[in-house]
Amino acid sequence: MAQKKTIAVIGGGAAGLMAAAYAAEICDPDTDEILLIEQNDRMGKKLRITGKGRCNLTNDCDRDEFLANVSTNPRFLYAALAGFDTGDTQEYFEALGVPLKVERGKRVFPVSDKAGDVVEALVRRCREMGVKTLQGRVTSVHTHTDDGRPAVTSLRVAGKDILVSAAILCTGGCSYPVTGSDGNGYKLAEALGHTIVTPKASLVPLVCEGNLCPRMMGLSLRNVSLRVKDTTKNKFIYEDFGEMLFTHYGVTGPLILSASAHIPDVESGKYELHINLKPALDDAELDARILSDFKKYANRDFINALSDLLPVKAIGPVVELTGIDPRVKVNAITKERRRALVSVLHDITIRPIRTRPIAEAIVTKGGVKVSEVDPKTMESKLVDGFYFAGEVLDVDAYTGGFNLQIAFSTARLAAQSAVWGM
Ligand SMILES: Cc1cc2nc3c(=O)[nH]c(=O)nc-3n(C[C@H](O)[C@H](O)[C@H](O)COP(=O)(O)OP(=O)(O)OC[C@H]3O[C@@H](n4cnc5c(N)ncnc54)[C@H](O)[C@@H]3O)c2cc1C
Repeated sequence: MAQKKTIAVIGGGAAGLMAAAYAAEICDPDTDEILLIEQNDRMGKKLRITGKGRCNLTNDCDRDEFLANVSTNPRFLYAALAGFDTGDTQEYFEALGVPLKVERGKRVFPVSDKAGDVVEALVRRCREMGVKTLQGRVTSVHTHTDDGRPAVTSLRVAGKDILVSAAILCTGGCSYPVTGSDGNGYKLAEALGHTIVTPKASLVPLVCEGNLCPRMMGLSLRNVSLRVKDTTKNKFIYEDFGEMLFTHYGVTGPLILSASAHIPDVESGKYELHINLKPALDDAELDARILSDFKKYANRDFINALSDLLPVKAIGPVVELTGIDPRVKVNAITKERRRALVSVLHDITIRPIRTRPIAEAIVTKGGVKVSEVDPKTMESKLVDGFYFAGEVLDVDAYTGGFNLQIAFSTARLAAQSAVWGM
């Protein structure tokens, strides 16, 4: 009997699970074998913590909107998205028994709010389709050259060589290395001649100048607005609304992580974050609100009259920024001084000077250079039978379910090409 042809999928994360399941769905089980190799003792370790454990698995938007949310190399994704788009992802998971819901910003989550359900659905699908699994770390990829380009022939896993007809590299980026995506996939690709665009942190907390953030450490704010200013151009380049958190080093939270993707050169120190603590009120409305509090607390010191307006941790820093004596009685504060308070509440300015380390980033910017990968097949242009999918590629997007959709779309295309290309 002829030996089965093996397609190996390296890495059992979002891309690897999808690639293995789909390859098994479309291959001929009599002649082909799909082998999913994951170094961890469980699949989808990172996928399980996505969306704060709820997994924002895609975004219910059309293709143009999707591509507008891809910050690096959106055009590389045309074919992958044409083959499997955000609607297809939703249909696929619903069919696998994971009912979905759409939330603010068209973000799609499982109705159960459990990322584990997404992982289990993919793991179950792999099992049903006969995917073989192997726990181990792929340490090298071997090729053979007859004439022309080299072709992949085998993988070394835990000291043993496994013969393969094709391999799909789904090893992720290098953020959150405890989940398994520790950047070793870049070395495997580099050893085959691929160029790695230097990995950088994206969707990452920001370290800020000064002592304002440490003083407000632990303060979590909902419903604030943020504008990012490029001081060299004297221009606001990004604006959003949502939730943020002050920490000992600076700022984090969804609002900040999204903003960080718009300032990849944050180390230049040219940006300012302008935080509006009361975006729902214009200057006049806010002044009226302050006046009413000042009437209520007419005989209190200024520092003791803001507890209805601000969380405790913000009061000291805000008072200091206004330049008003904290011990002055509020009935002695003039309209002009109140204006200073309004302007601070509407605009606290802090300067980010760098990102936190890449290990704390939600995604890695950089990775396998896409000009060395065929966007119509996800196959390496340097090595036959070697494919890429997911975050290992130099493609990344903003928050909202876009990064997982990229993993799923590229995985489907790579799997299809690997099966049909054998
Ligand atoms: C905290 C957090 C929250 C996130 N939330 C969201 C979200 O809600 N929505 C969204 O769209 N995106 C989210 N992301 C981003 C998203 O998780 C990633 O973009 C996505 O998981 C990338 O999928 P991947 O399969 O390419 O890589 P990964 O999911 O990182 O999987 C790579 C796998 O390869 C394995 N591996 C690596 N090297 C080897 C090797 N040599 N041999 C064998 N196995 C190997 C690893 O162990 C790992 O399991 C989040 C990320 C983080 C860190």
